[in-house]
Amino acid sequence: MTETTIDLDIANVDMNNGFSASCDPRRSRQPASAETDRQRKAEVNWKQLLQTAIESSAHGLCVFDDRSRLVIGNEQHRSLYSLASSEISPGRPVEDVLTVRHARVVGANARGQLADYLAAIRRGEEFQTTYELQDGSFVELDMHPMSDGGFVERHRNVTELRLAEVRAEKARQELIEKQYAIDQAVIVAITDVRGTITYANDRFCEISGYTREELVGNNHRLLKSGVHSPDIFRQMYRRLARGGVWRGELCNRAKNGDLYWVDTVITPQLGPEGKPVAYMAIRVDITARKKAEAQLSHAARHDALTGLLNRAALLDGLSEWLSQAQSKQQTLIVYLLDLDGFKHVNDTLGHAAGDGLLKQLSGRLISVVPATALIARLGGDEFAIVQISAEDAREETQALSVDLLQTIAIPFSLESQEASVGVSIGISIAPLHGLTAPELLYKADLALYRVKSEGRSGFHVFEDEMRSRAQSRNRLVNELRASVGRGEFELHYQPICGAGSLRPRSAEALVRWRHPTRGLLYPDEFIGVAEETGLMEALGRWTLERACADAVAWPGEIKVAVNLSPSQFRGGFLFDSVFGVLMKTGLPAHRLELEVTESMLLQDEEENLRLFRQLKSIGVSFALDDFGIGYASLGSVVAFPFDKLKVDRSFTSELPSKRASRAVVASIMTLARGLNVQVTAEGVETMEQLQYLRSQGVDFVQGYLLGRPVPSGALDLAGVPLHSALSDAGCFEG
Ligand code: C2E
Ligand code: CA
Ligand code: CA
Repeated sequence: MTETTIDLDIANVDMNNGFSASCDPRRSRQPASAETDRQRKAEVNWKQLLQTAIESSAHGLCVFDDRSRLVIGNEQHRSLYSLASSEISPGRPVEDVLTVRHARVVGANARGQLADYLAAIRRGEEFQTTYELQDGSFVELDMHPMSDGGFVERHRNVTELRLAEVRAEKARQELIEKQYAIDQAVIVAITDVRGTITYANDRFCEISGYTREELVGNNHRLLKSGVHSPDIFRQMYRRLARGGVWRGELCNRAKNGDLYWVDTVITPQLGPEGKPVAYMAIRVDITARKKAEAQLSHAARHDALTGLLNRAALLDGLSEWLSQAQSKQQTLIVYLLDLDGFKHVNDTLGHAAGDGLLKQLSGRLISVVPATALIARLGGDEFAIVQISAEDAREETQALSVDLLQTIAIPFSLESQEASVGVSIGISIAPLHGLTAPELLYKADLALYRVKSEGRSGFHVFEDEMRSRAQSRNRLVNELRASVGRGEFELHYQPICGAGSLRPRSAEALVRWRHPTRGLLYPDEFIGVAEETGLMEALGRWTLERACADAVAWPGEIKVAVNLSPSQFRGGFLFDSVFGVLMKTGLPAHRLELEVTESMLLQDEEENLRLFRQLKSIGVSFALDDFGIGYASLGSVVAFPFDKLKVDRSFTSELPSKRASRAVVASIMTLARGLNVQVTAEGVETMEQLQYLRSQGVDFVQGYLLGRPVPSGALDLAGVPLHSALSDAGCFEG
């Protein structure tokens, strides 16, 4: 503060610009001599020097005399307040100076500042204040009274300083707010290098359930949850010891035993030697998020109905096991389970009962399967089990499969009803059959397919030959797809004759596939595949139309019998398509007979009955095909107004020698008479069979004995009798 040391006696100096003689007490003591002249010159020099000094000061300076009149004010002073030199010329009373100067001062306290200052001047006291000016600058004023009654003002531009202070204050306030917010939101703990807690904020106490007294001084291990492996802590301490920051998600245990999850950042505080002396842990409570994540991941990996793993989780688990199995030289067994008859339960007892069965079944699976195994519901009524083989894989597959078959065979009690299902099990073994999850599941599926095609409810381990079968089936599917549009199908017709007259009464349309390389294929080779792949609908529509179109050319009393497939019954379009075909081909409805099997009618019986009645109302007749095999229920025979029952050829072929077959035929006849329904016996190959069937009163006969299926053009419908041997044997009645 060099300026303040020079200003104290300035007012004692007589300055040539308006200095008042009376204000200098030393003046009267000056002797009027050459010495005085010299002194005066020196004084003038000194005054000029001082004036120069005042003007060259970095700050604004003003000097007032003992009557408070301005003696001198420098340029810096004027420029700080943006004053013209005329506004504050020397000799002006301080009140004038302050008035013009204060016209530039803003701020709430401007008036007070002025009053205080005038009071200080009157009392001859030191004064200091900071003015805020209109132009945004800040000027600090220091007033020092002088011994003779005058005073000196120093004006300093403190704008930068002030702004920096304001900024610093703002930053400090923000920091305080943030710190408060952080303290509210995060858990803060400081520990020493041994893990002893030295600081715990409120949140830490709150979430852990411990008081600050319980925490501080205790080791942080107090909160250990046991959820993490020691590895994670070893890693953490290694990193921290090197001065690094550690971040991770940790699970801690609160005082009441509850677990809570925290996202944690631990920062070491380094001592002078660069070694950690303390650790600061900042943690955010992520328990809610962890819970939501856990629920989500559980839902994403489990089947909602049964709580078993889902397909994705099984594939993951199997893949993981496979990757370890190689190094551990383990054998894995994959079981694929498909329920038999589940659809029937769903259709007859409803979906709620079906769901109940699946739940009970998963409970049974859990009880039978080793605890370490993976159990999944892959969808619908399909399940999978993966087991690590302990010793002999083949023996184990046998044992577990038998257990599974037995436990699933026990009837399920569902809301006052009982229901039974069977199960087909396909099995593959790793590494024998594959090293990847998809490959093993595929092979288990092929083995399962084999079980199904062999009549269900059993188990099979994959064999290589199944693959080649599946491949040729795949080829067939592809060819079939192409052939439907290519006109490779044809219909052959087999006569159905009156049992007495042996004259053809109708002819059954039987589809053939003229395969480009394999020759003529019979329905057994492709109908099932067409049904499974959704191609049967198109093929069925074609058959119906072709058969009706062919029959139009036949003698008027001959009917055509067309087999329907299950898919034609589904969707509710049967009436429309039959009606459309009759219209299109011009075949009278009473000349069309539709052959259906009992199993087709069981799904959605009401809707089927409606279709049935509609078709019958226009004159179409119905025959129940393959009667006597498969479903033992007589319900549909009674419920549906059939015109005919067709005794399955498996019974005909055993006539008349097999007693059981004779009994079946006899009871069918009794039933038919009771229901007033006609009976056709199919597969009649021998005279003996024919004679026996006639003796039983069968109405119609069909079989190689009477005629093989032939193209429409080769069909002899007028022939009487159809077989010369028959006429020779006198087997027809005119
Ligand atoms: P299905 O309805 O029981 O037809 C009778 C089957 O028995 C025919 O076999 C016929 O050739 C055969 N057959 C007739 N008489 C005798 C006989 O005296 N002895 C023996 N051993 N067999 C005889 P195909 O043509 O192979 O048909 C097999 C099955 O394919 C049919 O059984 C039927 O269920 C189905 N099918 C045939 N054509 C069609 C069709 O156009 N649509 C649908 N949905 N299914 C068809
Ligand atoms: Ca038939
Ligand atoms: Ca049949």
